[in-house]
Amino acid sequence: MPHLINVWPSVSRRLADAPLVLLLFDYDGTLTPIAAFPDDATLSEQARQRLSALAGMDRFMVGIVSGRGLPDLEEMVSVPGLVYAGNHGLEIKGGGLDFVHPEATAFEALLVEVTELLERELADVPGILVDNKKLTLTVHFRNSPDSYAAQVDDTVVAATARYVEAGQMKITRGKKVVEVRPNLDWGKGKAIEKIRESCGGSSLPVFFGDDQTDEEGFAAVQNAGGIAVFVGPARESTVALHRLDTPAEVGEVLALLAQLADPA
Ligand SMILES: [Mg+2]
Repeated sequence: MPHLINVWPSVSRRLADAPLVLLLFDYDGTLTPIAAFPDDATLSEQARQRLSALAGMDRFMVGIVSGRGLPDLEEMVSVPGLVYAGNHGLEIKGGGLDFVHPEATAFEALLVEVTELLERELADVPGILVDNKKLTLTVHFRNSPDSYAAQVDDTVVAATARYVEAGQMKITRGKKVVEVRPNLDWGKGKAIEKIRESCGGSSLPVFFGDDQTDEEGFAAVQNAGGIAVFVGPARESTVALHRLDTPAEVGEVLALLAQLADPA
């Protein structure tokens, strides 16, 4: 799998030939290193300025597609003029969209119930964080001793079993997180398709991500003839056909993209 910067001459030609490039980024682990506490994963001022500059160029449409709740995501990124997709795409704002998945809101009360249940069941796990993001729920165990990882997973599975068996909820996993989500056929892949449709359907989509829930986003952009970029070590398995090592390298690519847009 080629490193994106190594093949930049050919990739940049593809991007330069497209009338509109849809640049989409996951947030945590992609635009910014994953932090011990989600609130500490702040975006660098340099990355913010580069995103803002790209968003101001006619050649590009720029969006962030994250598992964070939408208000949280908008606050962390804080660049006007972007498309923001939160809760793995269940809510999308910007680029002509003001979307909440019509079936997602029906799960809010259930998620409150599950949150309370998990807070009780996981109370003895040091460092645990149960984050109800309104449309999905994340249990973070990054700050818990490694020896608790299996217990956390088992507890989430057991506590949500009746909702999962009833077809209401599903469990997904990522880096030191277990998530409880409405059992809808919707995720980052569908969200990316929706964003792409809203900007005319002919754009060249590019998506950068680092985790399990980004994989369907990679598939979606590659199916549309676009470019998927996995951020992380070469040894990890992914459907993405390109990679970068770190969020810092994603920052370098933001700078390369800005040069592309400026013919001078
Ligand atoms: Mg991520």
